[in-house]
Amino acid sequence: MRRKLSRRDFIGLTALAAAAGAGLCGIGGIAGILLLRRRRLALMPTSTPLPTPTPTPFPITIVSRAAWGARPVNHEAEDEKGFATQENLNGWYEYTVDLATIYRTVAIHHSAFSSEEATTTALHYDTMIGLQTLHQDRRHWADIGYHYGIGADGTIYEGRDIHARGANVENYNWGTVGIVLMGNFEIEAPTDAQIASLNLLITWLKLTLNVTHLAAHSEFNDKTQCPGSHLKGLLDQMAQIAGLARGTGGYVRPPLSIFPTSTPSP
Ligand SMILES: [Zn+2]
Repeated sequence: MRRKLSRRDFIGLTALAAAAGAGLCGIGGIAGILLLRRRRLALMPTSTPLPTPTPTPFPITIVSRAAWGARPVNHEAEDEKGFATQENLNGWYEYTVDLATIYRTVAIHHSAFSSEEATTTALHYDTMIGLQTLHQDRRHWADIGYHYGIGADGTIYEGRDIHARGANVENYNWGTVGIVLMGNFEIEAPTDAQIASLNLLITWLKLTLNVTHLAAHSEFNDKTQCPGSHLKGLLDQMAQIAGLARGTGGYVRPPLSIFPTSTPSP
């Protein structure tokens, strides 16, 4: 059974988005905004004027990598540039321009392990450290592939630095924000807390990064069921609430000129 968003969910989020749009919630200094700014500022040459600060649409709490004990990015990873058809040209890549000009699509995933399975496997795929370990040690990527994770209790976690290209949708990672929800939503439904947090996060991403589209992983690649029918069935309504279009139509291929040492075969 697919869970419909309740009227209370809809009213609450609509009010939140409206308040944010009217600038009524301009509270600065929150962790998420700091995360968005931190790396860009670090990469800026000293002679370049600082960019206009990203407007703060509304407060959102994101558990940092340091707080969940993330391992360092492995820049020696042997397969960041290509897992199956991943095709991340030149491997690890950090965007050097305003993120709002790059990101278009939010891609939704599940961790694919049920709550019961997750607690009985050694790697604990229902945790950020478990997923990072899977991606680094077994898939040989530089880091966890998703930019954000949402636990069963609704906690939102920072994943891969938002300034770095993700590794979560084969051939379509450029300009795509990857969010994973812990669970297997082919066989169970996401929790109310997860749904509320996902609604909040995608609305926040629209307001901070100017994303335009919301897509399921399986809409990029029909070989996967990700994020499972119980979650995929909610995405139309979630997109409507956040003011996003549905599907993969926002994807824009990167100019190959930015990858000078990896010219693909014609
Ligand atoms: Zn997926």
